[in-house]
Amino acid sequence: MTHPLRIGVLALQGAVQPHRAKLAALGIEAVPVRDAEELAACSGLIIPGGESTTFLKLIHAYRLWQPLLDFAAQRPLWGVCAGSILMAERVENPAQASLAVMPITVRRNAYGRQNESFIAHFPLRLPGQPPVEQEGVFIRAPQVMAVGAGVRVLAEYGGQPVALAAGRHLTTTFHPELAAGDALHRHFVIL
Ligand code: GLN
Repeated sequence: MTHPLRIGVLALQGAVQPHRAKLAALGIEAVPVRDAEELAACSGLIIPGGESTTFLKLIHAYRLWQPLLDFAAQRPLWGVCAGSILMAERVENPAQASLAVMPITVRRNAYGRQNESFIAHFPLRLPGQPPVEQEGVFIRAPQVMAVGAGVRVLAEYGGQPVALAAGRHLTTTFHPELAAGDALHRHFVIL
């Protein structure tokens, strides 16, 4: 029997393959998504890291803006780094358009330049589970400056939230797909 879950990874640019590998290792079918039809066939969608300004252009070019909003109204979205910027309600440094499906304010490139990218370890508190140590790869990552009502902080680093959940949506400012462990991928597929 095939697994009922089919997780999409938005494949317009960015770090697509490592997510597919993490999910494949869990026995979950993970498919690249480039158009509305492929999106509609998914039970959840990961918006991977990359460059949020490029994503914005490509999302419009591939006519995915409204399909992504419709999808987010019904099924879980997980935004990683640039994906979290696209999901945030408000974006700073500079201000830019976003899907605004996660009530948070993020500041782009808040840790500095590419050579200030780093790996960190911090506790991850998933609902109903004991805390586990999570490894996070931060690559020109944003910082979460404000958190709105209904948002649950799942992990903090340096006093700031780095993994958050609201409803069925998830955002991480770091890249778990490039790090050890699979706790977040396991969690996302049950949302
Ligand atoms: N700095 C990128 C942006 O602003 C995000 C980087 C990433 O996704 N690793 O979109």
